[in-house]
Amino acid sequence: MSAADDEYDLVTLGAGSGGVRASRFAAANYGAKVLVVEHPFGFVSSETIGGAGGTCVIRGCVPKKLLVYSSQFADEFFDSKGFGWSMSASPTHSWEEMIAHKDKEIQRLNTTYNNILKNAGVEYVEGRGVVVDPHTVEVQIPGGGTRRIRTKNILVAVGAVPTRIPVEGSELAVTSDEALALDSLPQGSIAVLGAGYIATEFAGIFKGMGKEVQLMYRGDKVLRGFDEECRDQVQENLEKRGTQIMPGCNPTKIEKKGDGFTLHYKNAAGEELSMDVGLVMMATGRKPRTYNLGLEAAGVEMDDIGAIKVDEHSRTTVPSIWAVGDATNRVNLTPVALMEGMAFAKTCFGGEPTVPDYTFIPSAVFCNPPMATVGYTEEGAMKELGGELDVYTSKFRPMKYTLSGRDEKTFMKLIVHVETDRVVGVHMVGPESPEIMQGIAIALKCGATKAQFDSTVGIHPSSAEEFVTMRSKTRRVMGTGTSKL
Ligand code: FAD
Ligand code: NDP
Repeated sequence: MSAADDEYDLVTLGAGSGGVRASRFAAANYGAKVLVVEHPFGFVSSETIGGAGGTCVIRGCVPKKLLVYSSQFADEFFDSKGFGWSMSASPTHSWEEMIAHKDKEIQRLNTTYNNILKNAGVEYVEGRGVVVDPHTVEVQIPGGGTRRIRTKNILVAVGAVPTRIPVEGSELAVTSDEALALDSLPQGSIAVLGAGYIATEFAGIFKGMGKEVQLMYRGDKVLRGFDEECRDQVQENLEKRGTQIMPGCNPTKIEKKGDGFTLHYKNAAGEELSMDVGLVMMATGRKPRTYNLGLEAAGVEMDDIGAIKVDEHSRTTVPSIWAVGDATNRVNLTPVALMEGMAFAKTCFGGEPTVPDYTFIPSAVFCNPPMATVGYTEEGAMKELGGELDVYTSKFRPMKYTLSGRDEKTFMKLIVHVETDRVVGVHMVGPESPEIMQGIAIALKCGATKAQFDSTVGIHPSSAEEFVTMRSKTRRVMGTGTSKL
């Protein structure tokens, strides 16, 4: 080990959302000597492939949203007819061309993330980092060789990886990693397994690209954990747009058949059935990438799914080892990993102990049309808050569809805690809902009351104005919880 190697204030494992934010702030704002270890770049992650930017930039939020944009042009072509447009020929889509453009953009962003770190004075080493002891990291260099680095602090920001459910032939299915990098679309239909964020988003993407899609899941409804009425609306939209919904179904085996696959499954009635498809995609959750990292040996405690246990400052059970982002399985979203990374840097190097604030975190599912949400679901509010709750709902046909003829409704919902008049939950399924919800989240963070929503002047004509014109409550329900606002 060289003398210089002994001098680091921080070694970060992983240059994803949390790792980059924490390392950049520690170095640029607080003058810490920081080294980041990250796998070499590649579109599909593996035990040896990663890249600066991490999941969000290379195989998550960004490429997914680019594909969502691409798929939504199909809606625009359809809707434009009612507004007088006609196409001289049916529009066609080239998956290959879209992927080539997407790849170019992702490579540009990967370079940008490398430069962000470089410009902040962070040293960057390519390889796989493992923890040797509370103050030592070993980097396994691609192509052979290792480098040992001593450091005052270690930040584990290694993210998560897609999981495959254990059925025979599961290795034949793609995950979101491969789905975002397919060379071409298959001839036959696409069976998407799961009903969470990724499954519903990819069902929309593939459907928009003109594929037949089967959405197969074990529950009775998509998007468990979200507001029940929103779940109903998303499910209705998926069905109306032609996705074959297969609730209560469990895959049992995947077999190769010709250019495609046979997917065997048990349906809700317990019957053993099968169908031939062009591609099977598993969107059945992700797990922290914390295995074989030397963490247990160093004394870092983890939970039963391998998420690193941390205190409110993101410190693990070993004082010099910290962890942020998906590796800790708190709220697995990019802006949350950024918040945790920033709070860590302030705590560890800024002399300003900072606890990330998990209240009123907004999120969006980019299914088509999207769903966005902030605060309590109706069911969550009833369980956690005490006293009366007023629920306001609105379901309407967006103005654009009056001429386009699209048979689809937008759904909006406000949940109000009667005693304090505070708006505690806002949900929407409809076009532009993520863009609308970001502003609403600020209002909820500020403790906005229903009276303040009502006294806010709307923007007309828009769907968003409905949130400030909901005057008649749909129902009053009773909360039985004890949480305080
Ligand atoms: P990551 O971004 O995963 O970064 C971890 C990094 O660590 C990786 O680059 C990895 O290569 C590296 N690494 C792992 N092990 C080692 C090691 N031993 N040594 C060195 N490096 C290592 N969130 C949203 O907010 N909005 C969205 O729209 C959204 N869409 C998503 C779509 C998909 C398909 C997926 C999969 C996720 C999506 N997410 C979205 C979630 C979001 O991407 C993650 O929450 C976020 O990237 C987590 O950041 P992180 O820093 O914890 O980990
Ligand atoms: P989710 O947790 O959202 O969904 C997982 C799905 O897989 C659920 O439908 C779940 O069913 C199902 N499932 C899990 N295990 C099994 C099993 N053994 N057999 C059958 N079905 C199973 O995870 P995703 O993979 O969709 O996404 C991972 C995370 O990434 C998200 O939770 C989110 O934090 C983040 N993300 C955020 C996005 C955004 O912000 N727009 C987009 C994409 C990802 P059940 O509900 O019955 O448990």
